[in-house]
Amino acid sequence: MFARPEIETPSGLKAASVSTSIYSGSNFRTSLPKLYTSPVETIFCPDPNQGLYCQLLFGLIQRDEVVKVGSVFASTVLRGIKFLENHWQELCYDIKTGRLSDWITDSGCRNAVSLVMKPNPEQADLIENICNCKSWEGIIRKLWPKARYICCICTGIMRQYTIELEFYCRGLPLVSDLYACSEAICGINLEPLRKPCDVSYTFLPNMAYFEFLPVKNERDGSIEMKSNNEDTELVDLVNVKAGQCYELIVTTCAGLYRYKVGDVLMVSGFYNNAPQFQFVERKNVILSVDQEKTSETDLFKAVTEAKALLDPLGLILTEYTSYVDTSSAPGHYVLFWEIKGKEGKHCKELDPKIMVECCSRMEESLHYTYKIYRKRNIIAALEIRVVKQGSFEALMDYYVSKGTSLSQYKKPSCIKSEEALKILDSRVIGKYFSPKSPL
Ligand code: AMP
Repeated sequence: MFARPEIETPSGLKAASVSTSIYSGSNFRTSLPKLYTSPVETIFCPDPNQGLYCQLLFGLIQRDEVVKVGSVFASTVLRGIKFLENHWQELCYDIKTGRLSDWITDSGCRNAVSLVMKPNPEQADLIENICNCKSWEGIIRKLWPKARYICCICTGIMRQYTIELEFYCRGLPLVSDLYACSEAICGINLEPLRKPCDVSYTFLPNMAYFEFLPVKNERDGSIEMKSNNEDTELVDLVNVKAGQCYELIVTTCAGLYRYKVGDVLMVSGFYNNAPQFQFVERKNVILSVDQEKTSETDLFKAVTEAKALLDPLGLILTEYTSYVDTSSAPGHYVLFWEIKGKEGKHCKELDPKIMVECCSRMEESLHYTYKIYRKRNIIAALEIRVVKQGSFEALMDYYVSKGTSLSQYKKPSCIKSEEALKILDSRVIGKYFSPKSPL
């Protein structure tokens, strides 16, 4: 859990991310020691790395009491595991000696740690033995033997992290408990043990006034229905139809009027009369060279098809993002992929033939308009740029340094900022192109 400092708007209003305002609430602070291992000082630490180190330290010291492991989003849980991969020896040393590493300079964190830390060589040895093994498969179960589930949002853009999370938690259920945004907490998951791909959120009608703009479901109609007067198209929560996709619109007590959240949801059923929704995608078209429109879901499907080729090789695609490169004509889609080996931290030599095959598989899996444009050479060959380990962590660090809350960080599906692009481009270790048009 990571809070960001509040900011002040030009008119003097206080503004904070939703997670920060939850962590600041008196209810949260009162229940914190009973429900979580992380003391409030570590959540409010201005340096997220120092906060994370201490939160892991507290989690490890109390490892026999931990019954759930989690964060708001799946990507943050993975960030925590990767941080642990890089720091477990140091953490064990601290647990063994009962002292805290010198680079933790935040006084709040140091004070909180000093209240509980005492040398515990047996615990440190146990943790060291667990972390020292070759494969980190099931590491969460081993480190926290009483953990019953992993709690974090695994739907929407977070779906891409489920395979890697399942690797680390081997058999523990992944529970996506709620669907929320800064504007409102919209829905909760009443069947927590459902697989992430089947999760629905039951809407809570009293959290905001929810309205819905119908969106066409089919590929050729993935563009929202055109209307001169969108208000007349709006459907109330009580009138949504099963199977239909809608864009969510909220009117909130805080004063937002018919605000477009930017998410597309599909009605998957009803709990009594309360509609249940599956998250479909962010509304934005993310890639377009010409007239074609490729959404987050299109990209996710194509990546899912292509990455299946890595599986038999014992490789996992841990992160991906995209952008449209128009520096030469015609423009083309570029995918950044970070890949790692299941056994150990680094991926083996990548077979160029397989990577080229991944490019082809992606193009074959994209929609018809893309394929036609590609055939007519309006779009050039799709490219995969493999980046070295840790590149996406560097990307996350960049966005956090620009003010994004680590608790609410969502990696962009498509890179727009020049600086962010430079971060990934400077870490490329291999470039592969699709050899032929998919049609
Ligand atoms: P923010 O307002 O920055 O916290 O981001 C809220 C956004 O996160 C939502 O509009 C969704 O796009 C995404 N989000 C939140 N909860 C979920 C969920 N359960 N499943 C998928 N996406 C989610």
